[in-house]
Amino acid sequence: MLISVLGLFQQMYEMNRAYLWFMEVEFTFLGTGTSQGVPIIGCACEVCQSENTRDQRLRVSLWVKAGGATVVIDTGPDFRQQCLRARVDALDAVVFTHEHKDHVAGLDDIRPFNFRSRKDMPVFATERVEQALQREFKYIFEADYPGVPRVQLHRIAEEPFAIGDARWWPLPVLHHKLPVLGFRIGGLAYITDANQLSPLALERLDGVDVLVLNALRRESHISHFTLEQALEWASKIGARQTYFTHISHQLGFHDSVNAELPDGVALAYDGLVGTAHGVGLD
Ligand SMILES: [Zn+2]
Ligand SMILES: [Zn+2]
Ligand SMILES: [Zn+2]
Repeated sequence: MLISVLGLFQQMYEMNRAYLWFMEVEFTFLGTGTSQGVPIIGCACEVCQSENTRDQRLRVSLWVKAGGATVVIDTGPDFRQQCLRARVDALDAVVFTHEHKDHVAGLDDIRPFNFRSRKDMPVFATERVEQALQREFKYIFEADYPGVPRVQLHRIAEEPFAIGDARWWPLPVLHHKLPVLGFRIGGLAYITDANQLSPLALERLDGVDVLVLNALRRESHISHFTLEQALEWASKIGARQTYFTHISHQLGFHDSVNAELPDGVALAYDGLVGTAHGVGLD
């Protein structure tokens, strides 16, 4: 009797592990371009003139489906166009990495989601980002004027937080001197706008299945990883698949740069869809 009860517990434990192992996080790159996007207005360079759609990059954003919730990381200036293009027709939350305009400028366009769901949009941000939103979108937080975006702020720091049934683990990184958050959700990690990873971020990247990292261009930059630095981190972290994002026109043609990259490392492009498997950090 005792043996069969123990056996049952053992079986439940294994099933639970199996469930965790097969937990899937789906993601879509809504945008993969640096702050001005690619092509840049008025730029005559060959990348900006390219007709390959993979050379055309809207500002960075990732659409994540995890734990029964659909979430967008950052709402840059192209947010509306990205939602239309990828058919994002429902949204349970917005999570911000930092307050730079190429990551927050499209916040006003959450209104259609407010109207459809008749709910305030949960917005996850650090205290500093929250203050920037309150300053730059004063009208949202001030008057109860009909039709303005409705947000419900959730302050985050370094501790994990939940959206739906998924646990999100902040990955603190530095963007020159500015603290920025990346996120680990199940087997997926997303880091944009960094040129330094913290020890806590590295610890939380352990065992990651799909890693997204920023790689601006080949020449050094004050606040972004170069292609070479991003490659070094990709090899140290050793995810099954690494994607680079926040790409400048100066990096070169998508197809030729991509062809240089080792197995398991690729440039992301707008519209790329993937699935991360594996356990989170719980
Ligand atoms: Zn940026
Ligand atoms: Zn150009
Ligand atoms: Zn930035």
